Amino acid sequence: MLEVYKDKQPLFYEEIIHSIQNQKMSHAYLIETNNYPEKDDLILSFIKMLLCEKHFFSSQNCEECNICHLIDTNTFSDFIIVEPDGMWIKKEQILDVKEKFKTTSLQNNPRVYWIKQADKLNKQSANSLLKFLEEPEGNIIAILEVVNRYQVLETIRSRCQIYSFINHELQREFLDFELLIKIIQVLEEKENTAIAYLPIILENDYRNKDFWNTIFTEMIDIYEAAMRKMENVVYTDYGDIIQIIISKNTISKIISKLHVLFSTIQNLNYNLNMNMMLDQFIIEFSGGECNE
Ligand SMILES: [Zn+2]
Repeated sequence: MLEVYKDKQPLFYEEIIHSIQNQKMSHAYLIETNNYPEKDDLILSFIKMLLCEKHFFSSQNCEECNICHLIDTNTFSDFIIVEPDGMWIKKEQILDVKEKFKTTSLQNNPRVYWIKQADKLNKQSANSLLKFLEEPEGNIIAILEVVNRYQVLETIRSRCQIYSFINHELQREFLDFELLIKIIQVLEEKENTAIAYLPIILENDYRNKDFWNTIFTEMIDIYEAAMRKMENVVYTDYGDIIQIIISKNTISKIISKLHVLFSTIQNLNYNLNMNMMLDQFIIEFSGGECNE
């Protein structure tokens, strides 16, 4: 029941209601969960809203409703959940959705597939998905769920309507803002010799993927803000660190640093050797070339 989240996720709720009222529903959604604890229930409520007429018009809970019951038990033929099979979501799983939705078409009713952990798409499955998104057949709606929007390829991301859940706990836990500033300072001032400094500053965090995921995401926001300030457009003020970044970089340097950040976030999922990946990141970030 989406109504339950009116206060807990006001932004998401308002946007959904707004797009329904204006009949501006998308065919692909990227939902950035930020590890919001109730994400599954919230996404399911959204899916019910898309698939069940009663939900759609009243957003009330319909316990009597057969469709909602089938969705709850994952036995509704117009609804498919895709989850990683082992390490990855495989190409066959995407093709399977395509095949099933080809044959079970009811009277142009919407059909929904929910890709859990979309960061686990590998090269092949991401390509198949991209093709599927490019050539939508019938009334098919894709929901991609991911902790952090940058974990999905830009080509896929750009085809999706993006929604973000708020997770206050995550914000509290991770916004050790001073540490973040310290990392940026070291990267900017020590350049590629930061390889020697960062492990000492970060100790155990240095090998923690979730930690870097958050740091890289925050860094993207800060570097984008610095770039906006240089271009004299409205920017979020993160304090002195913006000035430090501006004093050390040209706009094109910031753009290439942003590219390094984007690709490193994507590689976080593929790479098992954190030390090597971070060394590579530091070298590339400081403007050096790096061979795989
Ligand atoms: Zn229902």
